[in-house]
Amino acid sequence: MIPDHIVAKARAVRLEDELARRGIMLKGGAERAGPCPHCGGTDLFSINTKKQVWNCRNCNKGGDVIALVRHVDGIGFAETVEKLSGEKIKPNGHARKIRERTFSYCDPTGKWLFDKTRIDFDDGSKWNFFPAAVGEGNEGKGRNGHDYALFGAEYLADVSEDKNVWIVEGEPKVLRMRELGQIAVCGDNAASSIWTPAHAALFKGLNVTLWPDSDTPGEKYIANAAACIKETAASIKVLRPFGLPNGSKGLDVCDWHGTAVERPNTRPN
Ligand SMILES: [Zn+2]
Repeated sequence: MIPDHIVAKARAVRLEDELARRGIMLKGGAERAGPCPHCGGTDLFSINTKKQVWNCRNCNKGGDVIALVRHVDGIGFAETVEKLSGEKIKPNGHARKIRERTFSYCDPTGKWLFDKTRIDFDDGSKWNFFPAAVGEGNEGKGRNGHDYALFGAEYLADVSEDKNVWIVEGEPKVLRMRELGQIAVCGDNAASSIWTPAHAALFKGLNVTLWPDSDTPGEKYIANAAACIKETAASIKVLRPFGLPNGSKGLDVCDWHGTAVERPNTRPN
């Protein structure tokens, strides 16, 4: 974990100072507008110096100073905290970070809600977190003050009546399904994801196939998802190409090397 005091030090850098350091000068008092350090322009980028939040109406992004640096420099949370705080982070005690990925969550219309970061360490452990929000009333809350969301929800509008929607566990699997030409979503907290009535409504009239990871948490995750959508989905199938859990770390979508995902020879139940 990144020590709180280092994150706090990074977050304490004032937006106007960070922008000035990058040669961006904004006009106004507490509310200031000017060119975006990412996309340019003249006035679509703004900050509120009291709340210490920014927003770009062209990039459709916003947040605190950490979100700004991540957006503009295209780097991850840990690297941004190091950059802003000037401190070096040793994640997880001894384990070394081998990969950091950030996934953007949007609502069904494609409006950005929040980011989630996943860091993989060389000891096989991983760390998921939601960078805290700083907007008024949302200080310190994950998910930017929003409710639980589905990764890939903005693709549900593209589902035609005859096409299947997949529910899988975790963002990398949603992306893998997308590579395979499929539309998939997942909950926002892996096996511990919360499924809400708002999620259920998104599956209204859709044919849904659930693909659990072949482990016990994977089955629990899929059972929760199925319970959520059972009144709204047109049909629900479960696909287990690797069979039922056998006690070891489950195989999943990313372990599937068939050419077409509809082809695994297994019976839905
Ligand atoms: Zn912008």
